Amino acid sequence: MEREDLLSHAESCAADALALMAGRGVPPTPRNFTLFYHLYSGEHPDVRLALEARLDSAAAINDIELAELYDQFFTTNQETQVVSEAASRIETAMASILEHLMTASHEMAAFGSMLSDVSSRVETISDANDLRGLIEEVVSATRNMAQRNRSLEQRLNQSAEEIHGLKADLDSMRREALTDSLTGLSNRKAFDLELHRVALDSLEKDHTFALLMIDIDHFKKFNDSYGHQVGDQVLRLLGATLKASIKGSDTAVRYGGEEFCVILPNTHLPDGATVGEHIREAVANKTVLNRKTGQVLGRITVSVGVAAYRRDEALASLIARADEALYLAKRTGRDRVATETDLDAATGQIELVVDGVSQPE
Ligand code: GH3
Ligand code: MG
Ligand code: MG
Repeated sequence: MEREDLLSHAESCAADALALMAGRGVPPTPRNFTLFYHLYSGEHPDVRLALEARLDSAAAINDIELAELYDQFFTTNQETQVVSEAASRIETAMASILEHLMTASHEMAAFGSMLSDVSSRVETISDANDLRGLIEEVVSATRNMAQRNRSLEQRLNQSAEEIHGLKADLDSMRREALTDSLTGLSNRKAFDLELHRVALDSLEKDHTFALLMIDIDHFKKFNDSYGHQVGDQVLRLLGATLKASIKGSDTAVRYGGEEFCVILPNTHLPDGATVGEHIREAVANKTVLNRKTGQVLGRITVSVGVAAYRRDEALASLIARADEALYLAKRTGRDRVATETDLDAATGQIELVVDGVSQPE
């Protein structure tokens, strides 16, 4: 964007954000402004989806919910604090190991010079008692050294255990940071990393891979009828269905709100479409039941868009094609799978007919 465009885009986002906050009775604090600004900016689709989902409900959004949303997307405070705590504990453990090793090395040097001193004194000894005294000195110094070695070993083991524990903490934090807490699927951050990794791998091995974009049909209506919490249960159910529909190297992701995607490494478009069809069927065949009340809430359906990676293309264009295929599936009736090939066919039809008059090819 040109500078002027940027300026007017930012101005209009800010004006819209302030107007909506005023309409909803939300105080225009910097934190709230950031959230509402990104409803319009297009920079953070995940923030937009989450806030839109909450604003869809008639109930006024309160300060705690806004703080939680802000923390979810904009602060890494908690994470940063745990990481820096772990880092400083690792630092302490390392410093203590180093100190033990330095002491051990000084003691070793002292022991060495004691032994060489003994060896020069041996040559001058003629008396048996003096010799016994010297041997006792050596034996006692050696015992001492052995004892110190044992305690050094113990301390090193303790430090190693501590570092091992810290590493496990960091691993589990890393997993948490890459997981969507509602569904247990990979989150958007993990998606970006995994998509990159799979793309590099596919370039290296000269494979392609498929990307599925999945969106629940008429989910707003479902939420409006049964409430947000029941809606969240449906998202969990869909997460479990996705997990059950894929195999080891595939990744199922909650992309944001009620949108999901699946990365299928080493997979061509038709096979990607087959997996999409399995997912669509598996979802459509489930009856959603309110466990608490036993009430049958009917069925939900999903629409799926499928695209396959083209060598050397930008990942953004792969995502855009899968997204367009998803919207084609929506436009052509929902509860269906569309691929990028269908997209070409649909575009072809549009090009042939303008204002209801067939155009010559
Ligand atoms: P379409 O078939 O065109 O996709 O219709 P839709 O109603 O599903 O699509 P729309 O994008 O208009 O609405 C998406 C809805 O998804 C809005 C919101 O009610 C719901 N939603 C998004 N995120 C969440 C969430 O985290 N929890 C719950 N319960 N609902 C969510
Ligand atoms: Mg939807
Ligand atoms: Mg959607």
